[in-house]
Amino acid sequence: MKIAQRMEHIKPSPTLAVSAKAAAMKAQGIDVIGFGAGEPDFDTPDHIKQAAIAALAAGFTKYTPVGGTEDLKNAVAAKFKRDNSLEYKNSEILISCGAKHSLYNAFQAVLNEGDEIIIPAPYWVSYPDMAYLAGAVPVIIETTDASGFKVTPEQVRAAITPRTRAFVLNSPSNPTGAAYSADELRALADVLLGTGILVVSDEIYESLVYDGFTCTSIVTVEPRLKEQALVVNGVSKTYSMTGWRIGYAAGPLDVIKAMTDIQSQSTSNPTSIAQKASVAALNGPQDCINEMLQAFDKRRTYMVKRLNAIEGFSCFMPNGAFYTFPNVSGVYGKKSGSTVIDGSDDLAAALLETARVAVVAGSAFGADSCIRLSYAISLENIEKGLDRIEAFVKTLI
Ligand code: PLP
Repeated sequence: MKIAQRMEHIKPSPTLAVSAKAAAMKAQGIDVIGFGAGEPDFDTPDHIKQAAIAALAAGFTKYTPVGGTEDLKNAVAAKFKRDNSLEYKNSEILISCGAKHSLYNAFQAVLNEGDEIIIPAPYWVSYPDMAYLAGAVPVIIETTDASGFKVTPEQVRAAITPRTRAFVLNSPSNPTGAAYSADELRALADVLLGTGILVVSDEIYESLVYDGFTCTSIVTVEPRLKEQALVVNGVSKTYSMTGWRIGYAAGPLDVIKAMTDIQSQSTSNPTSIAQKASVAALNGPQDCINEMLQAFDKRRTYMVKRLNAIEGFSCFMPNGAFYTFPNVSGVYGKKSGSTVIDGSDDLAAALLETARVAVVAGSAFGADSCIRLSYAISLENIEKGLDRIEAFVKTLI
C-alpha cells in the first residue's frame, strides 16, 4: 500500500521502542536493567483509583463533552490558580487524551505547511515529528551541558524568521531535567512578547523538581504572554497516571476552540472515568507527590554521582523530571570487542547487547553526545545497572 507522503519523517517514538525492546528481552528470560522508562514506577494513589471505581459504579461510562467535563475543567482552572497564579476560564481549557494529545492538537491547529516552529535541543522526541505531521519545519536550537541545556534569549532571537509560528519550551525538560529560573524565563519572554509567535509551554514535569527549585510558568512570569501562549500539562507524571491518558492545555480561546474541533473529529472525549479520577488527583491531597519526589531525589543524586565516576562520562545534575542525561562522548572512538563506538546509537546498542542495560541514545533527542537514563526504577536496579555500565566501560579499548 502506498503510504502518505507526510509519513516520510515519522518514526515510532524511540523512547517507547527502547522500553518495549527491554520488556521483550525480559519476557525471553534475559536479565535486562531498563533505564528507558518514561513513567514513574509508583502505583496511582489509592484515592484517585477509588474515584474511578466510584465513577464506574455510578455508570459514568458514556460520552462526555468533547473537550472534557466541566468538573475536570473546573479542577484544572483551580490548579492553574493555586499553583501558577493563572486565571483561565473553562472555555480556555481543553482536556485531551494525555498532554501528548494536547500538543498534537495544538500543532495541527496552528501550523501551516512550511511554517517554522523553534524547538530547543535536546528535545522531547515527539516535538519534531508532530511538527512534520502538521507540514511544518522544526527549527532546532542547540544547547549543551556546558550551557546547562538551556537556550539563551540571543539564540531564540536569532532563530526567529518571518515564517516562525511557534516556540516550544519544556521546563523541566525531558530528556535533560534542566529547568529555567524565573529570571531566565523573563529574558525569553522579552524576546517573544508581541511577536505573535505561539509559545507552547510544556510543563508536564512541573511538580517534579529538586533542591528547593521553584518551577515557574513563563506565563506567570510575564502575564501579557497569555494571549500568545499555550500551557500544556497533565496528570501522567505528577500522579503516576500515565496509563489513564489525561492531559490538558490552556490558552487563547481561538486556539483552544480549534484544538477542540480537531479532537471532535478524531478521538472525541478523553475516557470518562479517567476524567473523574483526574478530578480527584487535582482536587485531592497532594502529599502523594512528595513521597514520590523523595524517592526520585535519592536516586537522582546517587545516579549522578555514579555516572560522574565513570571515565569518559560527565553528568549534569538535573533540576527536575526523572532523567539523567550524561555526556558520554568521552568513550566515543573506543572499541567494544571489534566494534567501534561511534556515537550514542552505537553505545546504546552495545550496552544492551553486551551489558544487558537499556538506555535511550541521545540522538533521539537531537544530542548525540549523550544518553538518557531514567531513574523511575528502583534504587536496587539503578545500582545493578550502573555496576554493569561501569564494568562495560572499563572493557572498552
Ligand atoms: N511532554 C513531555 C516532555 C513528555 O516527556 C511527555 C511524556 O513522556 C509528554 C509530554 C506526554 O505526556 P502524557 O501524554 O502522558 O500526558
